[in-house]
Amino acid sequence: MSLKIKNTLTGKIEAFKSIKRGQISMYHCGPTVYKPAHIGNLRPFIFADFLRRYFKHQGYKVRQVINITDVGHLTSDSDEGEDKVEQEAKKSGIKARKITEEITLRFMQDLEKLNVNLTEIIFPRATQYINEQIILIEELEKAGLTYKTSDGIYFNTGAIKNYGKLGQINLAGLEEGARVGKNDEKKNPTDFALWKFSEPNIKREQEWQSPWGIGFPGWHIECSAMIKSILGQPIDIHTGGIEHVSIHHNNEIAQSESTSNKKLSNYWVHLNHILINGEKMAKSDGNVVYLNDIKNPLAYKYWILTSHYSTQSNYTEEAMSAAEVAYKKLAQFIKKDLEKPETKNGANLNLKNTSGKINKKYLEQFINHLNNDFDTPQAIATIWLMLKDQTLSYSDKRITALEMDKILGLNLENFIEQIHVIPAEITTLVEERRKARTEKDWVKSDEIRAKIEALGYTIKDTGDSYEVMTN
Ligand SMILES: [Zn+2]
Repeated sequence: MSLKIKNTLTGKIEAFKSIKRGQISMYHCGPTVYKPAHIGNLRPFIFADFLRRYFKHQGYKVRQVINITDVGHLTSDSDEGEDKVEQEAKKSGIKARKITEEITLRFMQDLEKLNVNLTEIIFPRATQYINEQIILIEELEKAGLTYKTSDGIYFNTGAIKNYGKLGQINLAGLEEGARVGKNDEKKNPTDFALWKFSEPNIKREQEWQSPWGIGFPGWHIECSAMIKSILGQPIDIHTGGIEHVSIHHNNEIAQSESTSNKKLSNYWVHLNHILINGEKMAKSDGNVVYLNDIKNPLAYKYWILTSHYSTQSNYTEEAMSAAEVAYKKLAQFIKKDLEKPETKNGANLNLKNTSGKINKKYLEQFINHLNNDFDTPQAIATIWLMLKDQTLSYSDKRITALEMDKILGLNLENFIEQIHVIPAEITTLVEERRKARTEKDWVKSDEIRAKIEALGYTIKDTGDSYEVMTN
């Protein structure tokens, strides 16, 4: 079975065919770096990592871009309100550039914890592509698709055919939505900003000269410009959160396809949302979880992959603990005979780990599920099925599971359970207390115990021995 993808562009399941044989180009709309990403925001990038691994495993050479939006994304996706980064800088008193650098770094750290290989992905920033964005706006201007208002240069969506074709959206509904907080100078409610002027007499932290005056690019133009200059048009697959279908991605298509007569992307794939306790994840409601809050980020990745990318998933503590148990079981299975080596006549039989054979039947079943519009939950179920199969040897199961993990990227082979480390300061105190006890100096022993407790640790005597625990 070869790959089939549910393409948002047509609303249909389609057989996949790459533009160039043996090569794939993919673009994934990245984060706006003004505040840390919560675990729900990370889903599209877990999926992007999975896609690259899958295609590489199938023998493709992959070029992949995740953009970093560090300017131009307004508080409303439809060009109303303030630039999110500038607003955060004003609120916090921290320089815009410092905010975007810190948040980008944190994003990269999150991806690393999720075992995303950063060196295989290109991460361009919007501020590094200002010229490319200006050039593209000039092309749109030459094609007669733009007009000027008092606050910027706008794309005239009424001047092209098929505006809003992605996701078969209801244009009337979109227009109605766009009328909320409307801009009277727009010719059509769905028109959007390509270039925004800096407000007169107000110096923005991030602004640039352009043929239309000092200002900054609109949010949508960066993706069109980066795809054109980094990957070339058309690309094979474009992905993003489901919330981008109606406005952002339709605007990308309008910008990219109206000047080039080439499709922007052959396939569009959209990720559904992660809820938390049945509700939308939002910092403002305190209903939010960050990757730093999760003990084992790879168990979170496992949990994400146990749902189909197109379904809404509900994050709960119970769901996460179950995923942690399952992940640990898998990792322990992989490591089992490394920790307790089997020996024969004194010889370590660990070498048999490399002597196992990939079980073709299960690997094929696993890939077939992924070929079915990336059905990761069924693929993961196949791993469990294989592990239970009594007719397979341990080493074959292990090698096959590791082969499957090349695609899932759960890093099962290198998982090390975090062992709680007692700081040196505490162990010294514990040792002093042990001495005091052998000398029957109970007063000193109790004093040291109090000190240990004040530092956040408890000591529990068990016969001749003792245990040290965190309070
Ligand atoms: Zn985009």
